[in-house]
Amino acid sequence: MTQPDHNISPAVPLAVKTPIPASWQQMARDKGFRLTRRGADRYQIMLECDHCGREHRSKRNVLMDHTPLCPHCIEQRWREDARSVGLELLHRDPDDHRHGFYRAACGHSIRRQFGRVRQIARGKHALRCETCLRHVEEAEARTAGWELLGPPRDRGSSYRRYRHSCGHVQEFARANMQTERICCGGCGVSWATAPSFIYCMRFKIPDSSSMTKLGFSKNPRSRLHHQLMCSPEIGGTILRTVAMSTGRAAQSLEKRMHGALKRTHPNAIIPPARYREHLRVKSESYEARLEPTILAMLNQLGTGADLSV
Ligand SMILES: [Zn+2]
Ligand SMILES: [Zn+2]
Ligand SMILES: [Zn+2]
Repeated sequence: MTQPDHNISPAVPLAVKTPIPASWQQMARDKGFRLTRRGADRYQIMLECDHCGREHRSKRNVLMDHTPLCPHCIEQRWREDARSVGLELLHRDPDDHRHGFYRAACGHSIRRQFGRVRQIARGKHALRCETCLRHVEEAEARTAGWELLGPPRDRGSSYRRYRHSCGHVQEFARANMQTERICCGGCGVSWATAPSFIYCMRFKIPDSSSMTKLGFSKNPRSRLHHQLMCSPEIGGTILRTVAMSTGRAAQSLEKRMHGALKRTHPNAIIPPARYREHLRVKSESYEARLEPTILAMLNQLGTGADLSV
């Protein structure tokens, strides 16, 4: 191994010692920087940002021909964009300079393009955690008696690949899995012919009054705990379930009940915007004052009497 010769002073490129021309200093000032010193070679310069006061290495031609960008200010903007939508910037993606890794409010790590986070901050896109979404979709499938396998092979992006408890693998639109309206092509079990329940649930939304949901499901408990509530802080209770011989019967009765409630209490329907953040419920929710009416309807069903709606 060659030892360094201490008698010879380390080579300092001549350019580094050369005074900086006043015209460069002026150009730096015009572009929002102070040229503090030369860099390691004659092409490099060090610029101090007027805005944040921090220094970065740049190139002479960048200063001459373009407007230098302060990397510290850029990173600060990324952090602010992230914070404004509840994300924490963890670090840049070493494999792609346009992407960063963030921690979402749910605790999961997500990867996003910096520009995308800016658009989310401006309200142009929704922020969704893929891990949480996967958990929700797995729960939807379990509720309906299926296992989520992954993306579809033959269908569009609204479809997923699932395995039934009989072992049969099939692709369905996710929307149909959410409402449990699916039939197994392997064993023939169908939502329409399998037993089901009509249910009435009560939800307490933070900073809002309670609301009542009427619906039907093959498995109301699983639907409540693993599918409808976005977080455990939401108080959700099943008030009553009535067994139906088939999903088809449950669906048809549920539709009639909603029709009757909409006719008689049109002002009691809660707009989805009020609970969208807390509940994965698209419609069919009413103000709590309708609870006795809905429970009375369900009691009537429970006695086997024909629904007088
Ligand atoms: Zn800066
Ligand atoms: Zn998450
Ligand atoms: Zn099956």
